[in-house]
Amino acid sequence: MSYVDEVIERVITQNPAQPEFHQAVREVLDTLRPVIDEKEQRYRDVALLERMTTPERQILFRVPWVDDNGKVHVNNGFRVQFNSAIGPYKGGLRFHPSVNLGIIKFLGFEQIFKNSLTSLPIGGAKGGSDFDPKGKSDREVMMFCQSFMTELYKHIGADSDVPAGDIGVGGREIGYLYGQYKRLTGLYEGVLTGKSLNFGGSLVRTEATGYGLVYLVEEMLNDNNDSFKDKTVVVSGSGNVAIYAIEKAQQLGAKVVTCCDSTGWIYDPDGIDLELLKDVKEVRRARLTEYAAKRPGAQYHEGVGVWTVPCDIALPCATQNELHLADAKMLIANGCKVVGEGANMPTTLDATTYLQKSGVMFTPGKASNAGGVATSALEMSQNSERTSWTFEQVDAKLQQIMKNIYHNCADAANEYNMPGNLVAGANIAGFRKVADAMNAQGIV
Ligand code: NDP
Repeated sequence: MSYVDEVIERVITQNPAQPEFHQAVREVLDTLRPVIDEKEQRYRDVALLERMTTPERQILFRVPWVDDNGKVHVNNGFRVQFNSAIGPYKGGLRFHPSVNLGIIKFLGFEQIFKNSLTSLPIGGAKGGSDFDPKGKSDREVMMFCQSFMTELYKHIGADSDVPAGDIGVGGREIGYLYGQYKRLTGLYEGVLTGKSLNFGGSLVRTEATGYGLVYLVEEMLNDNNDSFKDKTVVVSGSGNVAIYAIEKAQQLGAKVVTCCDSTGWIYDPDGIDLELLKDVKEVRRARLTEYAAKRPGAQYHEGVGVWTVPCDIALPCATQNELHLADAKMLIANGCKVVGEGANMPTTLDATTYLQKSGVMFTPGKASNAGGVATSALEMSQNSERTSWTFEQVDAKLQQIMKNIYHNCADAANEYNMPGNLVAGANIAGFRKVADAMNAQGIV
């Protein structure tokens, strides 16, 4: 049996009931086969893949908190510090009822390669809780965040592990988490990113993942003599990534006609009214029914369905495994030529393969959503320097980083005779740097 197959089997046996983690490992290792084959014995001798697929540290903790009626709740807290070969651990915190150890491990594993692709010195980690901020009062969210940080602060630091936001963790949650960290440690340091601008946040961090996705897809389109201009785009999600992907796609001349949340979706043939969407989602934290109520031409549908709408470009920006094989077939039948992942692993493995075999230009999340963590790393730099850069400075750096990521992935794919296969290219380019660093640092 090949080394890659042995390690995939080992991961499945040693991590039972963690299908998303198995899926992420399989996707990465399958595409690394040509690279591993070149040095199989060397990698076997140092158990490189076993070490790379095993987190350096997994922290699991209890998060008790009291709601507005005096009732005590207990949630699970997680921080998985996966790999620190190229820098301090870096990766978001997710607060969502679907969070479990397997989900955090899949996200932490992906984060290693994504962070490597940014070319910045950051290792891979992820954390979170099965707490659901939806429907909670501000006070309840604060109580939860304070309890979560009361355990987490023991394991993080500006030079060791710097968490950020993810699903369910935005500016409000980062503020409460930061306040508690400062209170417990007495340190005013860049221990979290995604902070508010008036206490160490970076301009462009809010927009970075969505903008970065569109910058990378635009670079890929330019490389193929095309662009976003006059294209019809479908987007899923209506959170941080989706909103700023819509904004940048519109700025580049595209018409975005859909968005969704976990209960329903919008089809707006005149193009999404972004100001209204921001008001519904960022200000009022309401459901998309409120968007439809204020926008006469828009249709609201319960359930899922954005992939049934004809488009040139699809940008999945909601969550993992939201674009299945049947969706991929529907997209292609309706003329879709490009799929750019904004979320982490939104496309199932069989759907990804089908899209690639059908000639669709496909960018994997670990490349196309890396703008968020890259800008987080720029926030860390500004915090260390005790300075802040202008919007234009950060945006220019973000654009350059996304262009470089695209070309590094495309070049790695070409080198291994897989032109256009950015899934393989991203994994190979991300892997090589981490593998070299791990080898140089010995068996640790
Ligand atoms: P948010 O919490 O801001 O938004 C998530 C959006 O997706 C919400 O509109 C949510 O709807 C919707 N959603 C969640 N689950 C489902 C579902 N099962 N079906 C349909 N819609 C769903 O999260 P982000 O925008 O920050 O993150 C989105 C994705 O991007 C995640 O995969 C995340 O890991 C990834 N990502 C985020 C980065 C960032 O900087 N924020 C960086 C890199 C990756 P509802 O409100 O109803 O739950």
